[in-house]
Amino acid sequence: MNEIKAPKGTRDIFAPEIYKWQYLEGAIRAYYGKFLYQEIRTPIFEHSELFSRGIGDETEVVQKEMYTFKDKADRSLTLRPENTAAVVRAAIENKLFEAMAPLRFYYIGPMFRYDKPQKGRYRQFHQFGVEVFADDSPQVDAEVIFSAVDFLKKLGIDQIQLDLNSVGCPQCRPAYLQTLRQAARAEEARLCPDCRRKIDGNPLRIFDCKQPGCAEASRSFPLIGDHLCAECRDHFAAVRETLSWMNVPFRLEPRLVRGLDYYTKTAFEVTSGQLGAQNALLGGGRYNSLIHELGGPDMAGIGFAAGRERIILPLEHLEAPGPKVLFVAYGDTQWLAHAVQLAEVLREEGYPVYIDYQGRNLKKQFKKADRIAAAFTLVLGDDEIKSGSVSIKNMASQEQVKISLKDLNEWLKKNY
Ligand code: AMP
Repeated sequence: MNEIKAPKGTRDIFAPEIYKWQYLEGAIRAYYGKFLYQEIRTPIFEHSELFSRGIGDETEVVQKEMYTFKDKADRSLTLRPENTAAVVRAAIENKLFEAMAPLRFYYIGPMFRYDKPQKGRYRQFHQFGVEVFADDSPQVDAEVIFSAVDFLKKLGIDQIQLDLNSVGCPQCRPAYLQTLRQAARAEEARLCPDCRRKIDGNPLRIFDCKQPGCAEASRSFPLIGDHLCAECRDHFAAVRETLSWMNVPFRLEPRLVRGLDYYTKTAFEVTSGQLGAQNALLGGGRYNSLIHELGGPDMAGIGFAAGRERIILPLEHLEAPGPKVLFVAYGDTQWLAHAVQLAEVLREEGYPVYIDYQGRNLKKQFKKADRIAAAFTLVLGDDEIKSGSVSIKNMASQEQVKISLKDLNEWLKKNY
């Protein structure tokens, strides 16, 4: 029979790599807890309309990358390609705008895009992200950006580069887009077919195209930074000033646009020189129109999403050890009941404990203890049972001691 493999662009994550994932999840919870973010978990699939309305019909993600299917009742559903639209939907639906304060969320979970798989790019990948609602201050933009960079640094990621731009707002962007369209039309012959289509839809995205002709042509295009309204200009200046108070270095990147339609004002991306071609660790920005567009109040929002596969990649040196196991062995099957009871007591105390139930001799049990990399093997043999004691072997040093069962807890506190 043919072996069934995981679908292209997906991967299995297991020990020891899984310990890094668990470590990262713990670090996210601890770090973002300090900024009063609360975890939110939204469904893996949503009505397709959420993404076409939220992310934008014209975007690459919606046009080419969504896993969309009909359910048995002929509803169009989509595996979430990102989570901001869903967090906004959840906040509207559950009236969180009234019920919660502050409106700060983080999420951790899988996303799905029909992307071209390569190292660091998958079809099922994992993001963690944060969203802050109801705060339009430039200082909160800076705080969100600071937290992203600081978190990555604290994890031990080097060569971090923060790129920053403002993509304007519904006040100033339409006029700029007209100017940009004119410039793009003048260069239409050099653009790829995809970018030609973007001229009428969202010409900002031409800046994202990696085709040499498009990249070259877009170098002469007008830049949004020169067309911002006074409010966007002031906001952007204040974001930059706050970042300098926070000692966060950044590079102004006037061609930085985000792949999704809903961004307004601040846009940012963090990359690391430690990564290869797929060097983007996270991206985000402000989205002051999205909440209203999805049927919620006229309320500001800002957030980012980070790729967890990309964050794990440069953390090769990270020590995220697995459990330190106590292996309980029995010299004879007649002592199995004692072993089971000892294991139970030890687990109650919080230790990870393993027993081999195969009824094999002690030599084989020790072999098994080695295979599962146990830290200590606790032996209950005839002598130990008679004297109410236990022999403990340190599997690394091979040292062995025999102690009374009543002293075991104390011993473990000192030696585990
Ligand atoms: P985006 O939602 O496109 O702004 O992406 C945010 C972050 O998610 C990126 O900076 C990447 O780190 C990560 N990411 C996006 N697409 C993928 C993918 N197909 N595979 C792995 N990571 C991804």
